[in-house]
Amino acid sequence: MSRIILKLSGEALAGDRRTGFDEETVRRVARQVRRLVEAGHEIGVVTGGGNFWRGRTGNEIDRVKADQIGMLATVMNCIYVSEIFRTEGMMTSVLTPFEIGGFTKLFSKDRASKYFAHHMVVFFAGGTGHPFFSTDTGVVLRAIEVDADCILMAKSIDGVYDSDPAKNPEAKRFDTISIDEVIARNLQAVDMTASILAKENRMPIRIFALQEENSIVRAAEGNQGGTTITVD
Ligand code: UDP
Repeated sequence: MSRIILKLSGEALAGDRRTGFDEETVRRVARQVRRLVEAGHEIGVVTGGGNFWRGRTGNEIDRVKADQIGMLATVMNCIYVSEIFRTEGMMTSVLTPFEIGGFTKLFSKDRASKYFAHHMVVFFAGGTGHPFFSTDTGVVLRAIEVDADCILMAKSIDGVYDSDPAKNPEAKRFDTISIDEVIARNLQAVDMTASILAKENRMPIRIFALQEENSIVRAAEGNQGGTTITVD
């Protein structure tokens, strides 16, 4: 048994639609997570918000307010994904670092531990609760706080490359790479703040493509595919 925190990027949740939700994609995620729960793993989930909103791009409004909208976008994502999980037979709860009335419950380590003990999938919505951070940082923070074994990052790209594969057809994907190298080469697969937090707290991260068949289960079982970011 291991405690795994799964990060779903906002773009990946949207599938080919690019914005909003692609229900079939989310159901495929749900069925894979159910297999992991049935195998005895404890699963936490963090979603991005990019399928709705990004705080830092092209907005005239104040950055703090723009980031607040972004954090709320992740709450919408978590409520949606958790409901799909529920219809696929799992028990779920959504925790946030700020109060939103009765929509979610306030995050605490003790509350998360209690829900994990009840075999619930625990959604960590709302990022860190602070502007100028990302959900990459949120997922590393929560993984460290709840003593997770590793982070699985499901993205629209299948791992960490030495340059941007969209721009460079010669770009090479790493099977494994150390977090020191990710930071030194500024590879941006995981943002810098999140990378440094993962390095200082020795939290390993595996990055893989959400769209590939059974990729979440395969990543959880440690099979190759994608990139493992090592922290030793
Ligand atoms: N966000 C934030 N603090 C956090 C997490 C997220 O302010 O701790 C905001 C930020 O505006 C971000 C948006 O929520 O752009 C969506 O989060 P995500 O990590 O998906 O953003 P991305 O890195 O893709 O822009």
